[in-house]
Amino acid sequence: MTGWRVDHQCPQCGAPVTLAESDRLFICPYCRVRLYLATPGACRYYLPPADRDDDELFYVPYWRAKGMLFSCRGHQIAKRLLDTSIRAVEIQGFSKSLGFRPQSLPLRFVTPEISGSFLTVETPLKTSVEDLHRRRLAAGSGEMDFSAFIGEECSLIYAPVKRVGENRFQDAIDSKKLPEISAAILDHRRQKEPLADSALSFVPALCPACGWDLIGERDSLVLLCDNCHTAWKASVAGLQPVLASVFPPEDKQDILQIPFWRLQVQIDGLEINSYADLVRQANLPKMIDPAWNERPASFWVPAFKIQPRLFLRLAKNMTIIQPSEEPECHVDASSFYPVTMTANEASESLAVLLATMIMPRQRIFPLLPHLHITLHDARLMFWPFKLQGPDIIEPHSGMALNRNALRWGRSI
Ligand SMILES: [Zn+2]
Ligand SMILES: [Zn+2]
Repeated sequence: MTGWRVDHQCPQCGAPVTLAESDRLFICPYCRVRLYLATPGACRYYLPPADRDDDELFYVPYWRAKGMLFSCRGHQIAKRLLDTSIRAVEIQGFSKSLGFRPQSLPLRFVTPEISGSFLTVETPLKTSVEDLHRRRLAAGSGEMDFSAFIGEECSLIYAPVKRVGENRFQDAIDSKKLPEISAAILDHRRQKEPLADSALSFVPALCPACGWDLIGERDSLVLLCDNCHTAWKASVAGLQPVLASVFPPEDKQDILQIPFWRLQVQIDGLEINSYADLVRQANLPKMIDPAWNERPASFWVPAFKIQPRLFLRLAKNMTIIQPSEEPECHVDASSFYPVTMTANEASESLAVLLATMIMPRQRIFPLLPHLHITLHDARLMFWPFKLQGPDIIEPHSGMALNRNALRWGRSI
């Protein structure tokens, strides 16, 4: 798997810069400005056509489908990584995916000035992924009962085609002829409104509360201030606060603070209203403390991408451990592993997490397609793991995680 590259200009000095697809925090190598990237909706990219000023250009949308796919069949959960692109408009004649193209050609951000007609996105990302997966299964060994895709928040790539005659089109990058496509259909699917949500904004990576430089890795979705101990995420209206807690480690040496989303949800279709309910439903070997009946059940889901198998193991482990205290957001000298998944994406994994936790499986699996999960509250929790040789260790459960798995997860 390789990430895609995006060509852009530094908003401050205009120097050409190349960003990785997952980059959010941007430091210009020329003028050293530190900026944080925000988009109002899906991140939209396009593949540049050979002739950019051609007014017969149409841009065909493709979803970027990169992430973890869980599918449940019988009483089994299959886990796999997905890294592909899927056409987001129902017009035959255009290829179903972009293949290797975005790896070999640099992408650019769609901005309102780009000439040409953008076709409207018709199929939501999750539907496209499920359809793709269903077709693959149908070609193989049968039915899927339930699936969940957890990936990029959303990104779209537009591929250019050029009209060269009545119902005749060609690829606008390599001029290859395309099968006949009705121009009337294309005209009809043309985005009537300008792509207003494609306006990118770069906001200074400075703490809005105290003016200090915010800290984070280039792919961090949340930046931290170690001066006033606050956490921030990007939005086009500027940086927005994120509710966060940092659990102080017993021993401050060799600690990596790992981020989890603590999700509080309403589950229609399953009786889990308290931590005691969760312990009972998961059949955990714990004596139920009567106070647990009053304690809300929360789900702790990794706020970062990692191999699907480890993602579920971590979520299950931390959901069982879940501490009841709520410390302050005190950003200390520990290292902080970057948040690379939003709370909304993390919450998409909850049905699958329930499938791994609730016993017996015969009871939970048939319920999965009917569960309705509403997210009420999300808080970012940094939990200290101990660095030990090639591993990081969760101190309460002893769960070990190889550091390479974390490193590798950054490319998912
Ligand atoms: Zn610059
Ligand atoms: Zn601050």
